[in-house]
Amino acid sequence: MLDRGIVSALGADEDKQIEATLRPQRLADFTGQANLKENLSIAIEAAKRRDEAMDHVLLYGPPGLGKTTLANIIASELGVGFEQTSGPILQKKLDLTGVLTNIRARQVFFIDEIHRLMPDVEEILYAALEDFRIDILIGTGPGARTHSMPMPRFTAIGATTRQGLVSAPLRGRFGLVLRLNHYDVAELTRIVIRSARLLNVTIDHAGAEEVARRSRGTPRIANRLLRRVRDYAQVRADGHIDHLVATAALDRLEVDRFGLDEIDQKIMVTLLEKYAGGPVGVNTIAASIDEESDTIEEVYEPYLIQLGFIDRTPRGRVGTDRAFEYFKITRKVRGFQPGLF
Ligand code: ADP
Repeated sequence: MLDRGIVSALGADEDKQIEATLRPQRLADFTGQANLKENLSIAIEAAKRRDEAMDHVLLYGPPGLGKTTLANIIASELGVGFEQTSGPILQKKLDLTGVLTNIRARQVFFIDEIHRLMPDVEEILYAALEDFRIDILIGTGPGARTHSMPMPRFTAIGATTRQGLVSAPLRGRFGLVLRLNHYDVAELTRIVIRSARLLNVTIDHAGAEEVARRSRGTPRIANRLLRRVRDYAQVRADGHIDHLVATAALDRLEVDRFGLDEIDQKIMVTLLEKYAGGPVGVNTIAASIDEESDTIEEVYEPYLIQLGFIDRTPRGRVGTDRAFEYFKITRKVRGFQPGLF
């Protein structure tokens, strides 16, 4: 909620522009995700040595963790062009065939929100990914026929926040499927320090760490909070961000100590209060707060599990002691019937 409030207070354009400034250009500047980076650098190096297009890559993970950034980095590491589109933009088959006809050999073609492609558009993509072929339907009715056009080998990079919604045939066409995880505080601290340098603002380690801690494991949020803290430091302090300034600014913005947003909080309160800490199924939580269960599972829950607020058990989700303590909710003793003893 708070993060969204901050976001809406900013012009979307300003946001995009600054994001572009802060985006690392090289794999070496991309903090964290060690395993994923290792897999990618091997694939990049191998493609370069063979002088071939790199395999298609599917990146999945919650928003703001660096999928678009990585797609850009892959193109610059390979030294090839970059073309970007997104699932919701490609409404009709012709939209996609139009883009595909302009793709050059070995370049990167990035499709954000790939889970939102229309089924018939997705089918066109299958042929392009697998056989490097564009199928165009000519004419209508019984006389219609499909014309196939070859296209150069290229690298498609799909990004999705909702792995569960990517169809099996589409997923199967990506040679590399890589998951991005939330960042820990040390990694986010490094990102905040780097961004502060690019924004020309001085920050000490403790100040950066405070911003990092409240960023919900997400670089995009860390960068946004840093900009709000910078404003505060310029107006209320001497422009330098230390721990005191960061804390005061973030408290003013009412950013939760762990950066939890409104939906995180609803999930936790439902689990802890309404269901007495569980175990309860994710579908039941989803129905109670009017969200889709796979959004909870793929976007929200991973961070709450990382914080140690939720445990996944075979019988359902369980709220931890740490969560009861943080939300100041007293655990109800389940099954206790007064008078029985
Ligand atoms: P996504 O596509 O997953 O929603 P983006 O790639 O747009 O996320 O990243 C959002 C912002 O966070 C970008 O401005 C980028 O600078 C920053 N960012 C993301 N991951 C990293 C990282 N590992 N290191 C440094 N900055 C990052």
